Amino acid sequence: MENVGTVFLVGAGPGDPDLLTVRAARLVASTRLIVHDGLVDPAILALAAPDAELVSVAKQRARHTLPQDAINDLLVREALAGRDVVRLKGGDPYVFGRGGEEAEACRAAGVPVEVVPGISAANGAAAAAQIPLTRRDAASVVSFVAGQCKGLSEQDWAGLAGKGRTLVIYMGVKTAPQISEKLMADGLAPDMPLAVIENACRPQMRVLRAPLAGLADLVERAKVRSPALIVIGEVAAREDAALACLAAEAQQ
Ligand code: SAH
Repeated sequence: MENVGTVFLVGAGPGDPDLLTVRAARLVASTRLIVHDGLVDPAILALAAPDAELVSVAKQRARHTLPQDAINDLLVREALAGRDVVRLKGGDPYVFGRGGEEAEACRAAGVPVEVVPGISAANGAAAAAQIPLTRRDAASVVSFVAGQCKGLSEQDWAGLAGKGRTLVIYMGVKTAPQISEKLMADGLAPDMPLAVIENACRPQMRVLRAPLAGLADLVERAKVRSPALIVIGEVAAREDAALACLAAEAQQ
């Protein structure tokens, strides 16, 4: 195994380079090959060494995307050729990041893998918008779900949102109308508070609030764009969250 490189699956956090772990920052600065996805902020890529090779495997709707198998093959091929590879992903590699699939492909090929956690968008957004995900008097459960079109109707979210619970929805901008309908069909009150946090932990962050029934309208009116998170639950209505919204609006 002497000539085999290691694949580091590294979480880049939600955007701000200051929110990288020390280990992630060290690996980005010292590794010659960085394979990154589209969510990774340019300010983070700027920490790479001047002679490092940066390969984007951005998944963008309009452009040709590198299929997951091709990404796996690229990581394995480079490592077997003896190069260490940093596979840099937005947020945390093991939260809606397909890190598990990439690690599995590496292990199957005999390539050593190390996973470096990152601050997931939910944690970054909660801190930046000052919305506690749990709080003794408002929520003792928090769930992360994926809201993208594929399979949305088959997903069972019953019981994940409501009194005493916080639901965080990733990838839910496009499907906002179906999301609010789905949750209300599950029995959630139309006036359940929610916050939409767009570009959390980046200079252009926006924090917007509405009742559940107003989600689709809010997303359309404010022209919310990905990346954004939807946080649903009593915590989104707290005073601290309201103050953070005002502060964010004042900066616009
Ligand atoms: N692995 C990532 C999630 C990848 S899925 C993580 O742990 O955060 C991509 C989704 O993450 C986006 O559609 C969006 O819902 C969310 N996201 C990522 N970065 C974000 C940011 N800076 N602000 C708000 N949402 C973000």
